[in-house]
Amino acid sequence: MRIVLLGPPGSGKGTQSQRLIQSHGIPQISTGDLLRAAVAARSRLGIAAKSAMDAGKLVDDGIVLGMIRERLGLPDIAGGFILDGFPRNLSQAAALEELLRQLEQPLDVVVLMQVNNDELVRRIGGRRTCRNCGRVFNVFTSPPAPGETCPQSGGAHDLFQRPDDNEATVAERLKVYDEKTRPLAQFYDERGLLQRIDAEGDLDDVTARLEAVLTAATRKPPAKAAPAARRARPGTAPRRKSPKNKTARKSSRRSARKTARIRS
Ligand code: ADP
Repeated sequence: MRIVLLGPPGSGKGTQSQRLIQSHGIPQISTGDLLRAAVAARSRLGIAAKSAMDAGKLVDDGIVLGMIRERLGLPDIAGGFILDGFPRNLSQAAALEELLRQLEQPLDVVVLMQVNNDELVRRIGGRRTCRNCGRVFNVFTSPPAPGETCPQSGGAHDLFQRPDDNEATVAERLKVYDEKTRPLAQFYDERGLLQRIDAEGDLDDVTARLEAVLTAATRKPPAKAAPAARRARPGTAPRRKSPKNKTARKSSRRSARKTARIRS
């Protein structure tokens, strides 16, 4: 399945992606993780991205799209993928649509994970990551279990807070989400791809709601074409309704059969 997880920072896209990797056996592609890895490696791309990330702004589309093109070119996406944190604005969404059209791998579903703002701030404020195994915890809601050890180091998890998880940057990230990313809900709704879920409450309940919309999406007919492609072609007559009286309906069916014979 080809899935986009859409939602504000702290809505649980990363956490739920980890679960989908297990249940669906498909890779997660997180532009945030790819960018953080580039920053940690001090690559040219990472250096260019760092200041925007620290300020809670979006990284330049050119950098992000280059990374995505490269990642979607790897063979492990053949069975599907979960996009987490991408696309984040309308131009990224349009570029993704075109790229997936070229790859003949259109999206199956876009899930919007809905969480209220106070809860987002609380979740992000408590978020900590283990430096060694990369697992994400929340010191308020899901801390490491007492005595739990890190599978990488064998000792206790070595937790740190992401530099952009401070109060000022979080406020900016939520503002950027409202301005740039929120309009994507309409973009994907118009394409018949959008599903909304309540992403508050128990983690397992959110996973169950997510799996339910994924199951429903695999059953529905292929998504509608992009609205631009669907717009009436010049000179195309609107479809006529079937005539009301019986004789008229019969003659209309006869002329439809005749047209079909002429066309074939
Ligand atoms: P969150 O969803 O919690 O905000 P992410 O890990 O997805 O965190 O992203 C962290 C930062 O990386 C963002 O604030 C932004 O600066 C940058 N980033 C991630 N994905 C994109 C993207 N698709 N386009 C532009 N910038 C991005």
